[in-house]
Amino acid sequence: MKLVRFGPAGRESPGVLVGGARRDASGAFRDWDREFFETDGLERLAELLRLGELPLVPEQERWGAPVARPGKVVGVGLNYVDHAKETGADIPAEPVLFLKAPNAVVGPYDPVRLPRGSTKTDYEIELGVVIARPARYLESPAVARESIAGYCISHDVSERALQFERGGQWTKGKSSDTFNPLGPFLATSDEVPDPQALGLVLAVNGERRQAGSTRDMIFGVERLVWYISQFMALEGGDVVTTGTPAGVGFGLKPPRFLGPGDVCDLEIQGLGRQRQLLERA
Ligand code: ZN
Repeated sequence: MKLVRFGPAGRESPGVLVGGARRDASGAFRDWDREFFETDGLERLAELLRLGELPLVPEQERWGAPVARPGKVVGVGLNYVDHAKETGADIPAEPVLFLKAPNAVVGPYDPVRLPRGSTKTDYEIELGVVIARPARYLESPAVARESIAGYCISHDVSERALQFERGGQWTKGKSSDTFNPLGPFLATSDEVPDPQALGLVLAVNGERRQAGSTRDMIFGVERLVWYISQFMALEGGDVVTTGTPAGVGFGLKPPRFLGPGDVCDLEIQGLGRQRQLLERA
């Protein structure tokens, strides 16, 4: 199944993408939120879809993020060898974790707003993992699979000056409003037979900047979910954004950052495409 949300920002309704058309599931479900994922909502939704067709969503309706505002967005830093190298960092011995404010989450085609005074806003295409069943102290990476609802494109927009030049951790540079476009849809796990074999491509103003594969992750998806669960409980609807391959603006020589009017296009095999226009806040 492919889950979507549609409607005005902050008032989205749940839907599904069937054969390229959005269908309205709001008659049966409140939202694709923690309660939905933790109460076998995906099974109930599959049953509903077996029973018949849902109403069409009007084409002009905005695409929201495919999950309700998550309880948390856990970021993974330096999870591709080529990206760690381009930033001059050592290959991490354990996953590098950071938190991204959940209110940074927006729809896949919403504009990204540059933070006030920003000179170093940067792009990062990533595989987003959405949690279904709660994960606490998982026994092994293998059992982590049962906690994963599915996958979506996650744009981990980052402001490098706020991330690296203002003291403390990375959170300041990762959490501005609009800094985490998700979607266009959440593909459930059964639709993604191998999450470690997906091509990722990002272009700025039509120029390809990142082209990688999730095969090159240092720590794979299941290992990450297992690992994170040793430090914090992952809950239904939480998002893990799993790191980016090489080619970010910060890693180019000289660096090239995003400014007003720039357009980012992102694509992950089987997970659709995003596009954002950069605007001043
Ligand atoms: Zn990232």
